[in-house]
Amino acid sequence: MDAARADGDRDTHTDRDTHPDRNTHPHRDTHAVDVAVVGAGQAGLSAAYHLRRRGFEPDPAATRSFVVLDAERSPGGAWQHRWESLRMETVNGIHELPGFAVPPADPRASARDVLPAYFDEYERRFDLRVRRPVQVSSVQREDADPRGRLRIESDAGTWSARWVVNATGTWRRPFWPHYPGAASFRGRQLHVHDYVSAEEFAGQRVVIVGAGISAVQLLDEISRVADTFWVTRDELRWDADEFDTAARIAAIAGVEDRVRRGLPPGSVISVTGLRWNRWAEAAQERGVLVRHPMFERIEPDGVRLPGGVRERADVILWATGFRADIPHLAPLGLRTAAGGIRVANGRALDDPRLFLIGYGPSQSTVGANRAGRDAVRAIASDLGDGVRSPRRRSPAVR
Ligand SMILES: Cc1cc2nc3c(=O)[nH]c(=O)nc-3n(C[C@H](O)[C@H](O)[C@H](O)COP(=O)(O)OP(=O)(O)OC[C@H]3O[C@@H](n4cnc5c(N)ncnc54)[C@H](O)[C@@H]3O)c2cc1C
Repeated sequence: MDAARADGDRDTHTDRDTHPDRNTHPHRDTHAVDVAVVGAGQAGLSAAYHLRRRGFEPDPAATRSFVVLDAERSPGGAWQHRWESLRMETVNGIHELPGFAVPPADPRASARDVLPAYFDEYERRFDLRVRRPVQVSSVQREDADPRGRLRIESDAGTWSARWVVNATGTWRRPFWPHYPGAASFRGRQLHVHDYVSAEEFAGQRVVIVGAGISAVQLLDEISRVADTFWVTRDELRWDADEFDTAARIAAIAGVEDRVRRGLPPGSVISVTGLRWNRWAEAAQERGVLVRHPMFERIEPDGVRLPGGVRERADVILWATGFRADIPHLAPLGLRTAAGGIRVANGRALDDPRLFLIGYGPSQSTVGANRAGRDAVRAIASDLGDGVRSPRRRSPAVR
């Protein structure tokens, strides 16, 4: 008997009586589960872990069932795509997945090697049976019943679920702001999403756009081999070395408030300043941490600053962040006029069958962990489990 089965959650199952359609579905080719988790990064795996802990199984035939669908070919979520120079010693305080620590790793090892291997082991250890590559193209209501099921269409078939936990992250939606003249630029433009290493810019003049931690890290790195020119839209507000707890709570509360009102989440950096960090310090020591105001337009061989000053450029590197990867949720019609989805505590206010985790305030490894746990807690509560915490034991370990 597995630990999840043994922990007693099953005694409280009542949904089979009230939902006789739970494991079968009128459309033969549709797999019916209780919970579909879309995305297997930090947030999705946290949800899957907590589902296991509450007695759900990755098997449509189980009394309580779930499935995890992930578009990647292999485990690791966005970590498998990050640039090589993002090392374990330089990642920004990552938080490990619940219930299993990251095995000791060489601090000089690339995060994109260590973390996907860890995620892989994690999935096997807790028998999460992630299905991949499965690209979800749409989530929609099966009928007008507000307690009815949601249909999940993908390139690998159709699922039907009572709850959808969306954990699709942001990595696949890099944000490129629009500036006049962009199409006329004769040099190279790229987003940090496609950054490989500084060496490819050796000897060139690189304009770096952005006020976040990626911009500062890459400014430090690229300025060692190239001539850099750093621009940001707003003046920078540098926070002290240690981002204190009160500031962090206030920042997260700001993003929480935005998403509750249906505004696009924005990044935590947009509501705080930029934290002073090792790259900023290194760049400052070498005299390259020099911020300029954002350019007004792009020209064939450079950028035009306010006041008419022209700066030559071979490359424009956009370190301008990412947006929530949620176009597949459009059929639910939850988008507000402001462009977001109204979400509170990870749950869509306008359709409580949908959770968005790793979204808005939970867009960090620690936030994603908690959001996965809270979504599952809310689902268990919907099922009548009450608000008690599951017993302190891990899901079945293989
Ligand atoms: C460059 C960079 C560095 C960062 N460094 C840190 C750090 O050091 N510390 C930290 O706490 N946070 C960091 N973050 C924030 C980070 O994004 C989160 O901490 C966390 O890793 C995100 O996890 P996630 O599960 O939300 O998303 P992801 O890891 O992106 O996982 C989402 C998964 O969903 C899949 N998916 C997407 N769309 C679909 C679909 N339609 N159908 C099926 N599957 C889909 C994706 O393929 C992916 O596997 C960083 C972010 C960036 C961009």
